[in-house]
Amino acid sequence: MELDTKLVHAGYEITAASGDVVPPLHLATTFEQRAQDDLRYFYGRGENPTREALERCLAALENAAHALVFSSGQAAGATALSLLRPGQRVVASDDVYGGTFSLFKTLTKYDIRVDYVDLTDLAAVTEAMADDVAMVWLETPTNPLLKVADIGALAELARRYEALLLVDNTFASPVLQQPLAHGADITLYSTTKFIAGHSDVIGGALVYNDDSLHGEFFGYRTAAGNIPGPLDCFLTHRGLKTLSLRVERQTRTAQHIVELLRGSPKVGAVHYPGLEEHPQRHVVERQMSGPGSIVTFEYLGDVQAMMNRCVLFACAVSLGSVRSLVECPALMTHRPIPEQDRLRLGITNNIVRLSLGIEDPHDLAKDLTDAL
Ligand SMILES: *Cc1c(COP(=O)(O)O)cnc(C)c1O
Repeated sequence: MELDTKLVHAGYEITAASGDVVPPLHLATTFEQRAQDDLRYFYGRGENPTREALERCLAALENAAHALVFSSGQAAGATALSLLRPGQRVVASDDVYGGTFSLFKTLTKYDIRVDYVDLTDLAAVTEAMADDVAMVWLETPTNPLLKVADIGALAELARRYEALLLVDNTFASPVLQQPLAHGADITLYSTTKFIAGHSDVIGGALVYNDDSLHGEFFGYRTAAGNIPGPLDCFLTHRGLKTLSLRVERQTRTAQHIVELLRGSPKVGAVHYPGLEEHPQRHVVERQMSGPGSIVTFEYLGDVQAMMNRCVLFACAVSLGSVRSLVECPALMTHRPIPEQDRLRLGITNNIVRLSLGIEDPHDLAKDLTDAL
């Protein structure tokens, strides 16, 4: 089955009992055990059929053995980090998502160190690796500057040190990039973004092949209770069906907007994986099936005033929605990162990030032109 068919069909089969053409919303918190021929459902914190339909679909999209969903992307991240033991170390992208940076800070009290490295620089990563590294935490494309790291090369390096490679694939979505196919051990998603796609449900997921990892993650989630509710799973699964259509349209719009930005005297650097001169162009071509719909640029003026002039673009954090969004990372998403670190990474107060929605591209272009 091809990806677009899996988006609609995987994870759920119509049954003779009711004939529902979509996975039913199971709200029950507990399940009558004598009523089951083959005892599978006990208590909703552990097992829920609506949740499992979404998980089977997410696993199928990456041809993975397992997927688990969580109450947020951060809950998925915290569950992945529950694998670590005191004294171990994590090597992470130096421009990780702000929330991930906050999550890493909580590891200090467990004597787990996180070293931040530019993961697009293989020599720097090689230097950071040693036997105490248990996990490499990669985000690609990076946020907000859209640098691209080579998943295959990092997977090989991680394997040499018996470290797990986790790829936060939130920006690309499984439609544009499949980390497990390039050798990653775990794919993480904030399903809040492209996967659910409508800015109306928060969630996260881990996707992986290893059975022993599944035991650990399932055990942790059941114990911690960081599960999404059935309605959240239902909405996420409904959104997921149109992922490919949305990404296709959003990417076309992004390409149009990139041209507009490059022609504007009010715009400095434009960052986009689809550009000919993107620094990791060859990796983009090998690893991604498209450049996506996040565009970052330098605005040569008062960013706050420009964002306030936008009408169709809502000034808000988050991304991957049907609705177009604009944000200033230094003031919003990347605020938890100390200022000197932000500046070293190139995240100045003039950097603006756009997430293109599915509105008419000409309307979006006009809105942005007026605001610029
Ligand atoms: C939003 C986001 C997260 C966190 O996800 P939530 O669903 O908000 O908890 C993690 N990583 C990236 C790259 C994100 O964009």
